[in-house]
Amino acid sequence: MSNEKTGSHTLPPLPYADNALDPVISANTLGFHYGKHHKTYVDNLNKLIEGTELAGLSLEEVIASSAGKADKVGVFNNAAQVWNHTFYWNSLTPNGGGEPPSALKQKIGASFGSVEACKKELATAATTQFGSGWAWLVKEGDKLQIIKTSNADLPLTKGMSPLLTIDIWEHAYYLDYQNRRADYVNAVLDKLINWGFAADNDR
Ligand code: MN
Repeated sequence: MSNEKTGSHTLPPLPYADNALDPVISANTLGFHYGKHHKTYVDNLNKLIEGTELAGLSLEEVIASSAGKADKVGVFNNAAQVWNHTFYWNSLTPNGGGEPPSALKQKIGASFGSVEACKKELATAATTQFGSGWAWLVKEGDKLQIIKTSNADLPLTKGMSPLLTIDIWEHAYYLDYQNRRADYVNAVLDKLINWGFAADNDR
């Protein structure tokens, strides 16, 4: 994700073709979201850190060293959005949804009662977030929980390990769903969510 020699961050390739999530997320949405929004966060981050003490740090190090600092809000917002979007692309997969791998399914059952209850809580977090942000399945200690964050904020700065996320900024769904955020969230949970990625992050 970052080039240690020049300190410049790069846009990671999408893990699938830009029409692979169609019709839940159209190629049009993915083209703007990845090719414009995600790329712009990368470009802005590189401009902001060029020639500063943050150049040459990994993306996670930039996030950790700018979080909560009044003079580094722009750096934090762009770095966190680069990280969040890469994590989001991996949280989705063509032919996703369905059942989590058994170990994760068991853990979800212990924390939420059932996979359905976990999805419902995730959907509620995603639809009740006021304004832009992210809904997350996270691990804190041994327990799984659902959280939502505003704007660029992310679980890494809260001592939590994210397992998967859903982008609930309007740019994630407006071209396809207009104001129907719940339809976008439920379609993602039923058809695209990548439980295998969540299980890989549960370590
Ligand atoms: Mn986004």
